[in-house]
Amino acid sequence: MTDQVIKADLKNMTRDELKAYMKELGQPAFRGEQIFTWIHGNATEFDHMTNVPQKLREQLQERCKITCHEIVTVQSSKTDGTKKYLFRLEDGNTIESVFMKYKFGNSICVSTQAGCRMGCKFCASTIGGLCRNLTAAEILEEVLAVQRDTGERISHIVLMGSGEPFDNYDNVTKFLQLVHDPKGLNLSLRNITLSTCGILPNMKRFGDEFPQVNLAVSLHASNSELRSQLMPVNRRYPMDELMEVCREHVNKTGRRITFEYTLVKGVNDKEENLNQLTKLLAGMNCHVNLIPMNPVSERDLKGTDRKFAEEFCKKLEKRGIQATVRRELGSDIDAACGQLRLNSQK
Ligand code: SF4
Repeated sequence: MTDQVIKADLKNMTRDELKAYMKELGQPAFRGEQIFTWIHGNATEFDHMTNVPQKLREQLQERCKITCHEIVTVQSSKTDGTKKYLFRLEDGNTIESVFMKYKFGNSICVSTQAGCRMGCKFCASTIGGLCRNLTAAEILEEVLAVQRDTGERISHIVLMGSGEPFDNYDNVTKFLQLVHDPKGLNLSLRNITLSTCGILPNMKRFGDEFPQVNLAVSLHASNSELRSQLMPVNRRYPMDELMEVCREHVNKTGRRITFEYTLVKGVNDKEENLNQLTKLLAGMNCHVNLIPMNPVSERDLKGTDRKFAEEFCKKLEKRGIQATVRRELGSDIDAACGQLRLNSQK
């Protein structure tokens, strides 16, 4: 039997952790700063770090690694600048990330888990269940690999790919720390949006720890019974408790909350749903993102057509609830909401 050496993943370390690690190796702390800057720039190998002494680079090569994803495929939309990346992880699992171009800058939608165990009925990501959590380094590498490939800087991040971010709380919050570091990508937390299906204990904790990050809540139903049918998480954390936590979050952070509402034809897009939704959200500082459900071949649910969705939106607005129908980027390459999946090589 061979002993497998587990190498320390330098991409997974915060700047302080890297400095402490350098100290352990008998190096001055500033080496940690230098290496952090290289890793968060474009260095994928120790040999790229030209201001780090050769001897130390050799030592790092032996003991450490820098997580890098292999690009399996890149699909480019014919209608907009969207690109969907399929990455292979070190253990062979695959994940997807989506690069989108907006007027305000470039955005990436990252996955936080390989697969998902939440079981939402309108979503492809959950079909194979949860495979495993991604490390902070693996989530960060989605951003860095796309920057390397496109040669463009990413200014906004949405955590809305495969996985429930609050089911992988520690790694996701470490990732936020990493991208926010001024010596790293230096992204403003206000340019980051995290979407959750409503794991309430972690939602509360997050509001205390990261009040500047935009929170989007996957609501998708106007009453608890319907929500339990579409989203099993509602049986554990029911809608009335979810709404209470959302109100607390808005009061605590002073920030608007977004509700994602996937419109499923004949299921949650009726007049009664509109009435219930109006009642539910009345008086709250919020915005509703309406998303006509995108096709998922394994599901027999259908999306509301766009014209109907626009009408639904207008009616909501007339009743004092801010809403928009999301502009779908990348739906011709299955890169739209709810279409990312664990294994796209089938
Ligand atoms: S919508 Fe989000 S939480 Fe629900 S199954 Fe898909 S990835 Fe998981």
